[in-house]
Amino acid sequence: YVVNPGRYGLRKQSEALEFLKEIGFKVNPNYEVVEGVDGIVNYWRKWLNLRNSLEYNIDGIVIKVNDFEYQKMLGETAKSPRWAIAFKFPAEQARTVLKDITIQVGRTGVLTPVAELEPVQLAGTTVKRASLHNFDYIRDKDIRIGDTVIVEKAGDIIPQVVKPIVEYRDGDEKEVSPPDKCPVCGGPVGKLKEEEVALRCLNPHCPAKLKRALEVFASRDAMDIDGLGEKLIDQLVDLGIVKDVADIYYLTPFDLIPLERMGPKAAANLLESIEKSKNAPLHKLITALGIPMVGSKTARILAERFGSIGRLASATMDELLSIEGIGEEIARSVVEYFSLPKTKEIIEKLRRAGVKMEEKIEKKPKPLKGLKFVITGTLKNYTRNEIEERIRELGGEVSSSVSKKTDYLILGENPGSKYQKALNLGVKIISEEEFEKLVESKMKGE
Ligand SMILES: [Zn+2]
Repeated sequence: YVVNPGRYGLRKQSEALEFLKEIGFKVNPNYEVVEGVDGIVNYWRKWLNLRNSLEYNIDGIVIKVNDFEYQKMLGETAKSPRWAIAFKFPAEQARTVLKDITIQVGRTGVLTPVAELEPVQLAGTTVKRASLHNFDYIRDKDIRIGDTVIVEKAGDIIPQVVKPIVEYRDGDEKEVSPPDKCPVCGGPVGKLKEEEVALRCLNPHCPAKLKRALEVFASRDAMDIDGLGEKLIDQLVDLGIVKDVADIYYLTPFDLIPLERMGPKAAANLLESIEKSKNAPLHKLITALGIPMVGSKTARILAERFGSIGRLASATMDELLSIEGIGEEIARSVVEYFSLPKTKEIIEKLRRAGVKMEEKIEKKPKPLKGLKFVITGTLKNYTRNEIEERIRELGGEVSSSVSKKTDYLILGENPGSKYQKALNLGVKIISEEEFEKLVESKMKGE
């Protein structure tokens, strides 16, 4: 590409490339000026055959209009020029034998079938494994163990099994059915929702899900442990230092300091925030446990109703169903979760570590009950989290966008578009100070 090519008397793409070569740039020698659609197709065919002779991988060619004048006339869309287009090669395919189907369990518990293949050369690499996507795919394509199959690799995408060659069957091929047990933990397997394709391990304590479980445990809505991020979690789990979420509370400096990117100072900071999290409010602990179907909103309801992990753990179906906002699925999930032996073990470990397990249920006044708030801009005395927490404690609701149902917009410094929207809808707009006064007057019952 030459800036202002006219200055050098260049009128064409090909002239620009020659010019660049002359002044010492390395220009790919394989370009060609061709004429007409036939010329393009012939060039494309030529490189389809020669692609493997290159020292690098290509997935197609790019065609450009040569004349700069025409390029200018064609112009460009918001995304790309109208005078250049990629002409891709079809994905490379190979034929091989599918020796076995193994199952990988992902960090969210999804079971993915993987084809173990007779090694085969494909797009410049040796392919031994290929994706089978999911068990519906295996069934729909009628892929069997022992089949001769077509595998395909397009660009950088992982290789996949396209289809079996049915004519090659000799009758010894084995059909595979979806597993009824998790290959990692032996736990039950199923779909989260009917319409989902993916099968999952349903055991909340499956070791394959531990990393994700720890991320949830440490997250802001849960125990809010600063410094316990993804990279560190990976190390702790991979090295076997942490085997369940409760192990977090038994970490020592000796466990942490040898880890990557972890000095004595960082280790001390982490241990301090772990220590601090022991006093997290009950609803955060309930969120942290990662009970299936129980998010932070439901956790709040449960914390308020039961006041302790012990009470919640012994709650019956009927008791749970009598609570507003708790449906059949959540109730069953809670009862099942607390009936698992591993749950009892984890709770006991947390208790021994000194994690706070209960909270006085005070009949706190709810002066903001029924009122809906939206916040915009930066506040002086609260972080966004703190003000939301305070409004909820006082019985109010917080929503992220302004609507006709919004009662108050709390306005901070540098407000966003919510401010204009509130003005348009005639929503009451109050400052931080006015919010405090509102709370005060509501407390007095005004
Ligand atoms: Zn499992």
